Amino acid sequence: MSTSSKPPYPRRSGNRPSGPSSQQQGRGRPHTRPEKPAPDRTSPELGPDGLPQVSLLRRGVERWQGGHPWIYRADLNGDPGLPGGEVVRVTDTRGWFLGKAFYSKHSKISLRWLSFDDVAVDADFFRERLLAADRLRQLALPGEKTYRLVHGEADGLPGLVVDRYGDFLSVQFLVPAMEQRKALIADLLQAQFNPRGIINRSDVGVRNLEGLTPEKGVLRGEHPGPVSFDEGLVKMRADLLEGQKTGAFLDQRENHVMAANYAHGEALDCFSYVGGFALQLATRARHVTAIEISEAASAQLRENAAANKLNNLDVVVANAFDFLRDAVDEGKRFDTIVLDPPSFAKNKDAIPAAVRGYKEINLRALQLLRPGGILISASCTYHVDEQAFEDMLASAAADARRRVQIIERRGAGRDHPVLLNLRETRYLKCFVLRVL
Ligand code: SAH
Repeated sequence: MSTSSKPPYPRRSGNRPSGPSSQQQGRGRPHTRPEKPAPDRTSPELGPDGLPQVSLLRRGVERWQGGHPWIYRADLNGDPGLPGGEVVRVTDTRGWFLGKAFYSKHSKISLRWLSFDDVAVDADFFRERLLAADRLRQLALPGEKTYRLVHGEADGLPGLVVDRYGDFLSVQFLVPAMEQRKALIADLLQAQFNPRGIINRSDVGVRNLEGLTPEKGVLRGEHPGPVSFDEGLVKMRADLLEGQKTGAFLDQRENHVMAANYAHGEALDCFSYVGGFALQLATRARHVTAIEISEAASAQLRENAAANKLNNLDVVVANAFDFLRDAVDEGKRFDTIVLDPPSFAKNKDAIPAAVRGYKEINLRALQLLRPGGILISASCTYHVDEQAFEDMLASAAADARRRVQIIERRGAGRDHPVLLNLRETRYLKCFVLRVL
């Protein structure tokens, strides 16, 4: 076995008769002929610890060794013949151990990284990962009571999202292996954090790709109706069971508070939800118009404004695209504008249409701003990366015939760590721009 200081792979799986016996046949030795995947299996091959083994073709091994935490179906050495939801041993075609992963049968993403080492993936494993996730939040956001506690792959817990809202947790199980460990995860969260309630918000479309149906409900304890939480000086309320996402958009929390610094004059917040940006703008601006298409979100936004005694805010239930177009036609002017729309592209094919949508609203916003005006423009579409988003902004500025400064290039808050090697975890862009 290799004793090099390189990462801890490959490691022989231990009991595979067809595997190599000498070190020369180990990692990185180039194959000279194209690989032919093994025939699909009807019964899975088991490793020394009794866990099923899934072997990778060369491209999959390279991806794994390159640190990418996802392996696609096409990079497996045949169908492993598993029902899905298992922790599996990952090997190369010769049986050399590469690590452990969650297996998904239905998704194009077959394997999700758990470990490079041959460790037991048991209750202690998940407890340790939850504790490590908690330690980051204690470090990065000391004293905070509302934050994303677990951010899936980026916290080494693929397919698990846990948002903390004070005494309550709102959780998403997004892959079969996490779904099957729902009770274990709920027990660990209860024991570790002692929440008054754990809400399950797994009512998301991505579950369909995994062969899971969307579901939501109360997993442990109680559902108290809307819960209160602070964002800077602003008091917020959101319903963890009935609201969007896990109740609120915690990824924008730091950007909400930042927005108050720039707010002045006549302000416009488009795609407001329950007012994360609008209320912050209202603490500084003369007047805020909030545009939101959902009646339920608009009602909660009005309540949140009243609770903060912010009387300088009007909520308009409208399509922001129409509002912006009409505002330009009517010659309206603003000093501060926020654009924070929902994701415009769920897959790569939708990217051009998404960019057109972004350009339309950003162009109009730039047309509406007075000189010295601020545009805070966000995108949560991960298929449109930061460069593409910036290019779109440049093109909108040119078409609007405005000179525009970039003041800040921001992303999600520190409780949403980005995993190097997984661009998908760097999904949120938030630019602060100033029109000359
Ligand atoms: N800015 C919010 C989050 C926005 S999420 C925050 O920081 O908390 C996107 C919001 O846009 C959702 O509330 C959704 O209901 C709303 N929305 C979706 N399409 C819309 C449209 N065409 N016009 C206005 N609002 C829209």
